[in-house]
Amino acid sequence: MTRPRILVVGAGFAGVACVRRLERRLAPEEADLTLVTPFSYQLYLPLLPQVASGVLTPQSIALSLRRSEKYRTRIIPGGAIGVDLRSKVCVVRTITDEIVNQPYDYIVLAPGSITRTFDIPGLTDHAFGMKTLAEAAYLRDHVISQLDLADASHDPAERASRLQFVVVGGGYAGTETAACLQRLTHAAVRRYPRLDPGLIKWHLIDIAPKLMPELGEKLGRSAQEVLTRRGIEISLGVSIAKAGPEEVTFTNGRVVPTRTLIWTAGVVASPLIATLGAETVRGRLAVNADMCLPGHDGVFALGDAAAVPDEAKGDGAVCPPTAQHALRQGRQVADNVIATLRGQPMRPYHHKDLGLVVDLGGTDAVSKPLGLELRGLPAQAVARGYHFAALRTNVAKVRVATNWLLNAVAGDDFVRTGFQARKPAKLHDFEYTDAYLTPEQVRAHVEEAGRAVR
Ligand SMILES: Cc1cc2nc3c(=O)[nH]c(=O)nc-3n(C[C@H](O)[C@H](O)[C@H](O)COP(=O)(O)OP(=O)(O)OC[C@H]3O[C@@H](n4cnc5c(N)ncnc54)[C@H](O)[C@@H]3O)c2cc1C
Repeated sequence: MTRPRILVVGAGFAGVACVRRLERRLAPEEADLTLVTPFSYQLYLPLLPQVASGVLTPQSIALSLRRSEKYRTRIIPGGAIGVDLRSKVCVVRTITDEIVNQPYDYIVLAPGSITRTFDIPGLTDHAFGMKTLAEAAYLRDHVISQLDLADASHDPAERASRLQFVVVGGGYAGTETAACLQRLTHAAVRRYPRLDPGLIKWHLIDIAPKLMPELGEKLGRSAQEVLTRRGIEISLGVSIAKAGPEEVTFTNGRVVPTRTLIWTAGVVASPLIATLGAETVRGRLAVNADMCLPGHDGVFALGDAAAVPDEAKGDGAVCPPTAQHALRQGRQVADNVIATLRGQPMRPYHHKDLGLVVDLGGTDAVSKPLGLELRGLPAQAVARGYHFAALRTNVAKVRVATNWLLNAVAGDDFVRTGFQARKPAKLHDFEYTDAYLTPEQVRAHVEEAGRAVR
């Protein structure tokens, strides 16, 4: 008898939590486990801004998928570019650009999200995101190279544009990115005696009237005060009207000369979800509380890619796209897959939000664990303690803690590696958004492959 084939797509918070639990709770003879992932690590995204600012090395937040010999899942190195629900086939583009069809009996879709963009002239050509390890490492080099180039330039206009930085998005990702990188340039400028520190300007803008509204009125204001004290100019109710190679135009008409536009204005589900041709809620796959796709046995979706009903909140709310939910949904979905295999009832996902931690660098932070409002050092202790506990492996915990300690003792360094200097660096280059098939192409591809076999 052949074993049921379980295919998990995506090795993020949700996918890895699911795979690890399946490995632990299913005997090897009960099912074949396969994971499709373009990278051989799970990225701990909440600490990405600290990689961009150089506080952490990239490797410390890239958790190996092959750390233990107990891990028995077969890993296909590549990205899923389409799923045909009718014939139960997932189309995969491997890292060597081969297209392979992967049949499954059960599929768990956890490909996460990509940077949400809008139809703003020049945006996708000139903005950097903060979603992948390569992006964070690239951005770090880019910011340091702006200091190097401004230092070498005799042209005041060039210097001014290289030393202004614009971050769009006042959620936690954008706020932490602006805060961490501003600290980097603030510390770095002392090593550039020819540069006037007054020329370095950071702008944080958001179309919403408040920064991080989920923090509440008082804590949001505290975060804003910390950033303003550090010299970050915050503009609310404002977005970008146009982006160019050397300047951006805000929607209020202001033109800011800059070569650095960082776009963190929200996320949208992975384009893989659209290839299914199934119902979505604002781009996320519409699933039941047990994370099953209605009308399709054996199809599960979770994390940023799925609109999982938030049973703890009720009122038709869906879970926000956070690691906190993705990780717990991953474990629950594994239990539900196992329940289906064994003919047992599935359980709905239920988790009450634990709150939010926002690390603004150094001793600055704001945190709201379980509704408790914290600022400064206590907030920073909670933020770092939370990340330390949430990192999945002991090796990663030690790497991160050692990096924090080293940074606290020895300060920042300002090395520009140059590894990616001449690579294309648009949003789609980092997030592979143009790799996906349309639902019709998926169908045609699977049918053609079927004919070839017959
Ligand atoms: C800068 C930043 C800071 C954040 N801070 C916090 C925080 O403090 N707290 C919090 O709770 N959340 C935070 N988040 C959000 C959190 O990281 C996400 O909600 C979480 O990562 C979602 O988990 P996931 O498993 O759905 O997706 P991900 O963790 O993004 O994993 C998706 C995985 O799928 C892979 N993948 C993508 N497409 C494909 C494909 N086609 N085929 C195969 N694999 C694919 C990706 O490479 C990735 O490994 C932050 C996010 C960012 C960007």
